[in-house]
Amino acid sequence: HLWCPFEDGTSLALWNDRDRSAAAIRAIGASDADAKGYLAYEDLFATIRSRLRSPARDTWVEDSPSRDELEALLGHDPTLIDVVFEASIADVVEGLIADERVRTALTGQGCIGTWAGPRDPGTAGVHLMHSMGSLEGIGGGWGYVEGGMGRVAFALADAAREAGAALATGVPVAAILPGVGVQLEGGELVHADVVVSNADPKRTLGLLGEAIPDDYRARLEGWSVESPVVKVNCGLSRLPTFSAAAEDDAPHRGMVTISQGTDVAQASFLAATRGEPAPDWCELYFHTAYDASIAPAGKHAMSVFAQYVPYTLAEGTWGERREEIGDRVLATVARFAPDVVDVIEEREVLGPPDIEARIGLTGGHIFQGDCRPEQMWDRRLSARTPVDGVYLCGAATHPGGSVIAANGRNAAMAVLADAAAGS
Ligand SMILES: Cc1cc2nc3c(=O)[nH]c(=O)nc-3n(C[C@H](O)[C@H](O)[C@H](O)COP(=O)(O)OP(=O)(O)OC[C@H]3O[C@@H](n4cnc5c(N)ncnc54)[C@H](O)[C@@H]3O)c2cc1C
Repeated sequence: HLWCPFEDGTSLALWNDRDRSAAAIRAIGASDADAKGYLAYEDLFATIRSRLRSPARDTWVEDSPSRDELEALLGHDPTLIDVVFEASIADVVEGLIADERVRTALTGQGCIGTWAGPRDPGTAGVHLMHSMGSLEGIGGGWGYVEGGMGRVAFALADAAREAGAALATGVPVAAILPGVGVQLEGGELVHADVVVSNADPKRTLGLLGEAIPDDYRARLEGWSVESPVVKVNCGLSRLPTFSAAAEDDAPHRGMVTISQGTDVAQASFLAATRGEPAPDWCELYFHTAYDASIAPAGKHAMSVFAQYVPYTLAEGTWGERREEIGDRVLATVARFAPDVVDVIEEREVLGPPDIEARIGLTGGHIFQGDCRPEQMWDRRLSARTPVDGVYLCGAATHPGGSVIAANGRNAAMAVLADAAAGS
């Protein structure tokens, strides 16, 4: 569930259970119309999900449909089309809900990892991307991976080995040589007819060197990878106490949203565009509230995902200001959990340049590129590239970012189909 504390000391929990969410909205004194507006908001995204991910035509599978086909699947309904291609998350939320607190809880969901504020066009589409999956039968549901996110990669590695793959890790590729294979940074040549690159498009471009048509080069050069995200990973002696939490709110088992409202978030984005860090909006995750295995016995973990910060600071550098910016993120959290600083035993602050250096993602962009409509659907990259024998399989390809595995599956199927067709 999503749990959001407010400045006035109240809070709101929105559950996977519609009736419980509607009751929670009424319980904070919002109107019945707002409770119904919230359900209409959930229905709107659920309707799009069911139209675009039906068993008959799952648009996440294989290449993206064209806009015309998507509009047809949406029944040419202007409201649905607007959410997919045009609307800001603020317009969608504010059109259905009047209560400022309920709005505050929701509008950040259109801005995750996005270099835009909640009032900017296309941000409804970012929330849509996050609502298109389902988990254990819950539409739009998310979860923790037992043992930590890295377990997904280990599981994939095991499956690949079982299927006969040879894996090499910690050996960066220095160049992709189409039709020949890849050259490793150590100089070794690995022969392969087909190369599938999981590196982001800008890195892949660098690896391909001259072997790429001009129009595709221009497309990758123009690919937007500006990220507003600073991550603060914390080891805790115990879970912090949220002052506004009611007994059955269970904030640590939910996704805690900390926001001062839509206008402040928009202003924070504008500050970041001027090079000023303004990490006023945060989402907190407490993995250990579900799975103790990722921390030493009795200890906890808190992951803070905060926006908005710039890659390039107007004053100073990330090297000089990293810890100060981390302090600001935690001060934002402390407004609602005053003991948070006392319970932190270890912390790690990762701004966009740190995410770039550590994970190898250009710009530190968590999704290998902006996920507003300008770079989604048939405007996202295809697994197939114009370079013979070179494919992409990362989050920059359709259907976009997150740990969804769809991009890899689409790439694998494209490679197999092309091999079968003899191309
Ligand atoms: C801080 C952060 C928080 C996130 N939170 C969530 C979340 O809560 N839930 C969720 O679902 N998703 C989340 N995401 C997004 C999700 O992790 C990504 O969308 C997903 O991992 C994309 O997978 P990918 O296969 O495209 O590879 P990526 O994760 O994009 O990785 C690209 C890989 O290419 C490698 N590479 C680059 N250059 C070379 C080279 N020259 N040689 C060899 N390898 C190279 C890099 O080392 C890297 O391993 C988050 C991402 C970040 C960074």
